[in-house]
Amino acid sequence: DSLTSVSSTSRDIVEVAKENDKNYLVLFGSQTGTGEDYAKKFAKELIAKFQLKVMCVDVEKYDFDNLSQLPSNIPVSFFISTYGEGDFPDGAVALEEFLRDAEADSLSNLKYTLFGLGNSTYEFFNGASKKTEKYLKDAGANLIGKFGIADDGAGTTDEDYLSWKDATLDALKDVLHLDEHEEKFEPAYQYEELEQYYDESVSHGEPTTAYLPENTIKGPFTHNQPFLAPVVKSRELFKNTDRNCIHAEFDLEGSNLKYTTGDHLGVLPSNSDEHVKQFLTTFSLKEDTVFDLISTDATVQPPFPVPTSIGAAVRYYLEITGPVSRSIFGQLVEFSPNEEVKAKLVQLSKDKEEFAKQITSKHFNLADAVLYLSNGKPWSSVPWNFLLETLPHMQPRYYSISSSSSTEPGVVHVTAVVENQPNPTEEGKKITGVATNLLRNIQLVQNKVDLYELEKNEKEGRTPTPSLSVHFDLNGPRNLYKNFKLPVHIRHSQFRLPSNPNTPVIMIGPGTGVAPFRGFIRERVAYKEHHKDDGEAISQLGKHILFYGSRNQNDYLYAEEWPEYAKKLGECFEMVVGHSRLGGDSKKRTYVQDLLIQRREDVFKMIKDGAFIYVCGDAKGMAQGVHKALVQIISEGNKVSEEDATNIIKMMKTTGKYQEDVW
Ligand code: FAD
Repeated sequence: DSLTSVSSTSRDIVEVAKENDKNYLVLFGSQTGTGEDYAKKFAKELIAKFQLKVMCVDVEKYDFDNLSQLPSNIPVSFFISTYGEGDFPDGAVALEEFLRDAEADSLSNLKYTLFGLGNSTYEFFNGASKKTEKYLKDAGANLIGKFGIADDGAGTTDEDYLSWKDATLDALKDVLHLDEHEEKFEPAYQYEELEQYYDESVSHGEPTTAYLPENTIKGPFTHNQPFLAPVVKSRELFKNTDRNCIHAEFDLEGSNLKYTTGDHLGVLPSNSDEHVKQFLTTFSLKEDTVFDLISTDATVQPPFPVPTSIGAAVRYYLEITGPVSRSIFGQLVEFSPNEEVKAKLVQLSKDKEEFAKQITSKHFNLADAVLYLSNGKPWSSVPWNFLLETLPHMQPRYYSISSSSSTEPGVVHVTAVVENQPNPTEEGKKITGVATNLLRNIQLVQNKVDLYELEKNEKEGRTPTPSLSVHFDLNGPRNLYKNFKLPVHIRHSQFRLPSNPNTPVIMIGPGTGVAPFRGFIRERVAYKEHHKDDGEAISQLGKHILFYGSRNQNDYLYAEEWPEYAKKLGECFEMVVGHSRLGGDSKKRTYVQDLLIQRREDVFKMIKDGAFIYVCGDAKGMAQGVHKALVQIISEGNKVSEEDATNIIKMMKTTGKYQEDVW
C-alpha cells in the first residue's frame, strides 16, 4: 500500500527487488505511521533527486533471510520506530530477530542508512533503532553517512529528520556517485478530475473501500480497517472551569472486537468545518470536485478510497491542522504564486531559526502559514494532487481505556481532555486538537446543548462555559457517521493488573492518567462481587492504593465515583489525592510525587510485599518526577545508594512489576 509498492507473490525481499528492477530499498518499521511518513518522504526525494528506482515498503510484509544475497549496488535505508520499552514495532519483530541472529560479517555486502524515531522522555530512547545499528554493525554491514535519531520528546522530529536527510543525501551522492537532478514533484498517481461518475461508487470519507455501498464489511476490525463504533453516551467531567474533559462510551456491538482492561482505543477523527473551509479557500479548491487517482504502477493502492471529492479527502484523510514542517516549504517553492513569495519560501525553507521564529512559534497550520507569506491572498497555484500526496494522512489518536473488560466487555470508555488553548501570538485564535474537540462536539450535541446558544452566551459573558472553538459535521458522509459513529480499533497493551488479585498494587495517575486505573478499580470491584460468597478470596485481596492529582476540585475526575468504589472494596482500596493549584491564598502545590513521599513508609512496605507499580499520564514531567520519588523511597528504605535503587526499579520494569502508560 505504499507509493512505491511492487508486484510479486514472493515475500523474499531480494527476489522482489530484483523482479521489479529496483535499485534502492527504503524499509520502514512503524507503529503509528510517523516512521512510514518519513520513509516515504525520503523515498520520494531519492526518486526526485537521483532518479533512483526505489521500493519503499513496510518490513512487516517481507522476509529477510536472503538479505546477504542483495547485490551490493542496491543500498537499503532503514526507518525504525521505537515503541513501548525500547521495543520494535509489532510488524518489525521478525526483522529484529533476523538481524539479531545474523552471523558476523554475513551482511558485509550491504550498504545502508539508518534513521530511528523515538521519544527521549521514555527510558529506552530509540531502543529499537539503536539495536538495529548494533546488529547491522555486528553483521559487517556498511553504514553510509551517520545513524540519525529523532526525538519526539523534545518536539524536534522534523528538524532531526531534515538535518539527517540533508547530510545523508550528500553522503549517498558521494559514495554511490549519483547525479543530482533539480527537485520536482513527481506524482505517484495519475490524477484525474471526473465530470461524470456513478454516485454510488464515490467515497464520501469512508475509512476503507469495504465501507462503500457495493461492499460489505466483514472485519476483522484493525488499525487498517477500523470499526465504526457509535458513541452511545458522553458527558463533561470538569465543572466550572474553562477547560473540558470528555467521558465517552463507544459501543463495540457487532464488531467482534475484544479488549482487556489496560488496553488503548484508537480513534480516527475528522477535521472541523472551519479547518476544512480554511484549507479549501486558501488553496482555491472546490469542495465538490470529484477525482480519481490511477496508479502509475498497476499494483500501487491509492492511500484512501477513490474516486472521492476534494471536500471529503480534506475532511477525512489529511492532517491539515498540525504544525507545519520546514520541508514542505522547500517542496512548495516550485508552486509559489509569485516571485516575492518564492523568495520567502526559499529563505524560510533553508533557515531553521527563522522558520521557528516566523512559523512554528506562531502555531500556524499550513493554511495559516501560506496565507501569512502571501499577506492573506489565497494560493491557486498549488496542485491539489501535490497537497494530497505531500500532507500527512489522518492518524488515529490513542486513549487509555477507562472501563473494565469484566464489567463492560462490549463498551469502551475513554477519558479525553480537550485540547483548546488561546494562541498566545495570534489574537483571537485558538490552538485546537482534532479528536478531542470532535468528542466535545459530540458530547454537546448528544446532550442537546445548543452550540450556537452556547457561543452567544459566552460572547455576552453570561455563563462560565467556554466557547466552542470548532464545529464538526456530525452527520457525516452518506449518514455513515450518523448517530455519532467514529472509526475505532483496539490496540492491545502490556499494561495489566497482576494476575494474582492478592498482589498489592500501587497506581499513580494524575489528570487523565487516572483513566486506566478507573478500569483497574472497576475490575477489582467486579472480582469482589463475583467472589462475594468466598470470604477467604475477599480477605486476601491485595491492597490497592491510587495516587491521584488534579489542579483543584473542579477538575477532579470521576469525583463522585470513587467513594462508591471505596464502599464496595472496603479496606483494600485507598485513594490519596492532592491538588496542584488550589485557589485563594493557598500557594501550596501538591503533585503526585509529593504524595508518594508523604506516604513513603506505606509505599516502601508495599514494594517490599511485592507490589506492582503502575504510572500513567504525562511522560514529560510527571513520569520522571514519580521515578525520582520512588528511587528516593527505595534508597532510603533499603539503605542503598540511589544508583542501586535505580537498578532495582530497572529490574522491576524488566519483570513487569513497574509498568508505565505514558504519553
Ligand atoms: P491533535 O490534533 O493531535 O493535536 C495535538 C496537539 O497539538 C494539541 O495539543 C493541539 O492543540 C496542538 N496543535 C494543533 N495544531 C497546532 C499547530 N498548528 N501548532 C502547534 N500545536 C498545534 N489523552 C487523553 O486525554 N486521555 C488518555 O487517556 C490518553 N491516553 C493516551 C495513551 C497513549 C498510549 C497515547 C500515545 C496518547 C494518549 N492520549 C490520551 C493523548 C491522545 O492520544 C491525543 O494525543 C490527544 O487527545 C490530542 O489529540 P487531538 O486530536 O485532540 O489533538
